[in-house]
Amino acid sequence: MYEANQIVAELLCTIRRIIEPGLSTFELDQIAEDFCVKKKAKPAFKGYRGFPSSLCVSINEEVVHGIPSRKRKLLKGDIVSLDFGVCKNGYFGDSAITVPVDIVSNDNNKLIKITEDSLLLAINEVQIGNRINDISRIIQEHVQKSGFSIVRQFVGHGIGKSLHEGPEIPNFVQTGHSPRLLAGMVLAIEPMVNIGTHNVSVLKDGWTVVTSDKKCSAHFEHTVAVTTNGPLILSSQTLFV
Ligand code: MG
Ligand code: MG
Repeated sequence: MYEANQIVAELLCTIRRIIEPGLSTFELDQIAEDFCVKKKAKPAFKGYRGFPSSLCVSINEEVVHGIPSRKRKLLKGDIVSLDFGVCKNGYFGDSAITVPVDIVSNDNNKLIKITEDSLLLAINEVQIGNRINDISRIIQEHVQKSGFSIVRQFVGHGIGKSLHEGPEIPNFVQTGHSPRLLAGMVLAIEPMVNIGTHNVSVLKDGWTVVTSDKKCSAHFEHTVAVTTNGPLILSSQTLFV
C-alpha cells in the first residue's frame, strides 16, 4: 500500500508545482495518465462507476469529483482540489490536496489552511484503541471553530484491496456505535470543508459535486495506516517536496 500511495503522493507534488493560470484541467489529467503508465499503476478512478478520468479536478465551488475538460482553464485566484488514486500490485492509494492558483483571497487561503490542519489533527488521532468518532470529532471541532462548514454527504473510508472499504469515516461526529481502531487498519481520511453552507448538490454531468451557495470548498486526503507506533501516513509527500 505504501508503494501505491507514494505514486499518488509524487503525482500530486508534481502537479502542485506546475499549477498556474491558463492550464486546462484536461492537461492535468494527461499528466496523471502518463504518470500511471510510467509507474505501471492503474488509475483507480478511471472507469470507477463510469468516471471518465484519472484525476478529479474540482475548482472553487466544486467540492469533489470534478471532471477534467479541455475547455476549463485555471484562472488566477482559483483554488483547485486535486484528488488522485491508483492501484499497484492489487493495493490502492488515495490522496487529495487543494492548491491556490497564483494569489488567492484571504478567505480562500484560510479555507485551505483550516482544511489541511483538520486533516493533520485527525491523523494524530489514528491510535490503537481510539474510535472512528475521535477522528470525526477533531475535524468537526477544528472546522466549526473557524466558522466554516463540513460536507456531510461524502465521507472518508477504509482502503486496501479495494478503493473504498469499511468503515466509513465521517468528518462529523455520529451517534451510535463507532468502530475502534486496530493495528493494520488503513484509513483514507478526507475532510471536505466549505466557506458557506454545508449543503451540496451534483451537477448534470452526474459527477461534479458543488456547494449549494456557490461559495468555495477545499479537500485534503491522506491514506493512513494504524500501527503500534502510531499513525503511518502512507501518502506522505515528504520525499518529493
Ligand atoms: Mg481521494
Ligand atoms: Mg478517498
